[in-house]
Amino acid sequence: MIIGRVILTNYRSTSLFLILFMTALLSPGAVTAQASLDFNWNEINEEALGYFRDLIAINTTNPPGNETELANYLKNIFDREDVESSLYFLDPERANLVARINGNGSKKPILIMEHSDVVGVQAENWDTDPFVATERDGYIYGRGTLDDKDSITAALMVMLLLKRNNIELDRDIIFLAESGEEGTTKFGVDYMVENHWDKIESEFCLAEGGGAVSIDGEVKYVSITTTEKFPMRIKLVSNGEASHGSRPSKDNAILILSQALAKIGAWRSPMRLNDTTRAYFERLATIAPPDQAEWYRKILDVDTENEAQNYFEMNEPIHFSILRTSIAPTIVSGGFRRNVVPSTAEATIDIRGLPDESPEDFYKIIESLIDDDRVELIPEGVYRPASPPSSIENEMFQSLERTVEKMYPSAVTLPTMMTGATDMAQIRNMGVDCYGFGPLRTQSDINGPGGAHGDNERILKDSILGLVQFLWYTIIDISL
Ligand SMILES: [Zn+2]
Repeated sequence: MIIGRVILTNYRSTSLFLILFMTALLSPGAVTAQASLDFNWNEINEEALGYFRDLIAINTTNPPGNETELANYLKNIFDREDVESSLYFLDPERANLVARINGNGSKKPILIMEHSDVVGVQAENWDTDPFVATERDGYIYGRGTLDDKDSITAALMVMLLLKRNNIELDRDIIFLAESGEEGTTKFGVDYMVENHWDKIESEFCLAEGGGAVSIDGEVKYVSITTTEKFPMRIKLVSNGEASHGSRPSKDNAILILSQALAKIGAWRSPMRLNDTTRAYFERLATIAPPDQAEWYRKILDVDTENEAQNYFEMNEPIHFSILRTSIAPTIVSGGFRRNVVPSTAEATIDIRGLPDESPEDFYKIIESLIDDDRVELIPEGVYRPASPPSSIENEMFQSLERTVEKMYPSAVTLPTMMTGATDMAQIRNMGVDCYGFGPLRTQSDINGPGGAHGDNERILKDSILGLVQFLWYTIIDISL
């Protein structure tokens, strides 16, 4: 167990620096009280960075995960600070940790969810030890610095601040550090949803995703993920006739498969906007350079949407992808000897569905497109549910927007659809609106190396405190 660097002796003094501002904001038909609590953020920064370094040093590479060591580290801190917490697990080495701070119960809880596992490393490609938080030029390097130990640090710090300052909340705040997010959800979110839903049931959930983006030194936008695509992969298997390579039959399984793939490649799946993607393009158009902004406006107009799609396909693949259920052949195999025509060949197709996609209907379209009964379509099974986009008009989204205004007055809040998949899918599927946020990054960092899952993963050192503040202001805004 690692308990180094936890600054316990100082924490009582932080409350001396507590300044409470109460401002009443008038909104049409209602009066809401909004409190803004401010601390000695330097002390909090030092404390949070101490936790962050400890968390990086706990190797939770999945597989095997070993998230229990991290869960125990957190439990120890919660125990000393009198925050109730418990471990829940399918496998004793892969525990999830839930902590809770009670409010008065007049509103339903908020769940802050982070994952405790990390993806593996190729240590030989790193300039530093991936499991030692190493500071260099304003960055901290280490596996998990962006995904997702930054979020654990922020959530932990906010829980401690709520507890130490006896903040009177009108709802419970639940902390969940879940295991197995990186590909083994049965130990983490699936286990918790299926067996301990009562411990994490909530009105809103906050988790990893988005983040603030600075361009030329100014934060231009803060992306909040409100929905995501879901994997609905298939295999295509072609059946032909085996023959000698020198006397080929016309039923060559490799050619049959190639023709099927060519038909898929030539097809453009239909485009569909939803509330999130529509608002995303509208808002992006207000901050993008004029020539790009024009495309973001064109995609919203039925008369010009095709032209814009052509542009995105060539120049902005992520924008092409969020418009549609995307299809990408990723593995092809067939044959075993150079002079034997094989009887079968196989392709794996990575399909990422829009949140409202029906896999069955979509597979039927693909079958009719291929139109060849020598090709079989085999679904791999959907392991993350399609889940409805979370509202961009409710109380939580408005709180997040106010936090953006407070911290980055010149920035736009961008509701965003992720092309990848996260454990928020399972929580959204239970009827909970979920929002993903993340640390401040520069646009060149986002486009360069050192990102999540990459070699030399790194985070701007100052953005740890930014993440704590972002979460703090949001929780206070929506829970007082
Ligand atoms: Zn992650």
